Amino acid sequence: MADNCIFCKIANGEIPSRTVYEDDDFRAILDLGPATKGHTLILPKVHADNLYELPDKIGERLIPVAKGVAGLLKQKLTCAGLNLVQNNGEAAGQTVNHFHLHIIPRYENDGQKILWNPTKPADEELDAVLSAIMGK
Ligand code: 5GP
Ligand code: ZN
Repeated sequence: MADNCIFCKIANGEIPSRTVYEDDDFRAILDLGPATKGHTLILPKVHADNLYELPDKIGERLIPVAKGVAGLLKQKLTCAGLNLVQNNGEAAGQTVNHFHLHIIPRYENDGQKILWNPTKPADEELDAVLSAIMGK
C-alpha cells in the first residue's frame, strides 16, 4: 500500500465503498461521480501509479475480472453497451494516481460521449509515426 493513497485504502477495505466484486487481488466499486448508472472502477489491491507500473501478474488477471464485472452489469442493469476506459497521466485525464479501470455501462441516449475526434493524417505522417515507434 502507498501512503495517503485513497484507492489503496478503498481497495484494501480501510475506507468503505460500494463493492460489486472482490477477490484477493482486486476490488470493483461504484464510482462516486458516475458517467452512467453502474459506472464501476476496478482497483488492484496492490498500489501501482498507472499502467506502466502495473505488475504483470495483476495485468494478466485484469481482463478476466473486467469480463466478469461487465457480465454482471449487463445482466443486472440491462445496459445496451459498455465502455472500458483507463487513463494514464494528467494529460490523459487521470485524477487518482492508483491504477484503475473504468467500466462504463451505456444506455440508449444516455447523454455521454466517450469518443474522440478522428484526424486524417497523410500516409507520410503515419509512416513517420511508424518509424518513430518501430525504427532504430
Ligand atoms: P480518473 O479520472 O483518474 O481516470 O478517474 C478517477 C475516478 O475516480 C473518477 O471517475 C471519480 O469520480 C472517481 N473517484 C474519485 N474519488 C473517489 C472515491 O473516493 N470513491 C469512489 N468510489 N470513486 C472516486
Ligand atoms: Zn494506491
